[in-house]
Order: sequence, then C-alpha cells, then structure tokens
Amino acid sequence: MFIINCPTCEAQQLVTNKNIESVHRTSEGMVGYVRCPGGHTVLHQFAMAYPKPKPPAAVLALREAQAIEAAGQVEDEAVTAELHLAS
Ligand SMILES: [Zn+2]
Repeated sequence: MFIINCPTCEAQQLVTNKNIESVHRTSEGMVGYVRCPGGHTVLHQFAMAYPKPKPPAAVLALREAQAIEAAGQVEDEAVTAELHLAS
C-alpha cells in the first residue's frame, strides 16, 4: 500500500499495487500511472515518495577513509615513478 496525491479528488488516496496501471523508468526516476479509488489515473513519482536511502555515517566515513588512502597510494606511485626517471 502507498499514498498518491490525486489532483482531481484534491486528496491523498491510499492505494495498493493492484491500482498500478503501468510503471516506467525515466531520467526523473521510476514513475507510474496509478488509478485512485475514485477512478482517476494519476502520474505518481515513486522516487519522490521513497527517496533513495543514504548509507549510515559509519559507511560514509569508511568510504572517505578508503578514498583518501587510495589517493595517497596514487601519490606514492607517482613519486616512485619520478625516482625511476631520475636514476
Ligand atoms: Zn481521484
């Protein structure tokens, strides 16, 4: 079950998956044509109703640490390459 905003009824309507007429992947995210209980077809943006969750802060910190470490390794390799050129 999920909620759609029907502009014709001017109300939020609780609907089920059976009310979905079609689903489409667009550059704006997943959208669908959903039939409200009053029989109106509503364009529903699922992506806005269910934003993509952000990873926990601990995961973000780990990724940042890995990115810094990876950047450091690239610098080390660059220094090593310069040393080889010098010798
Ligand atoms: Zn309606």
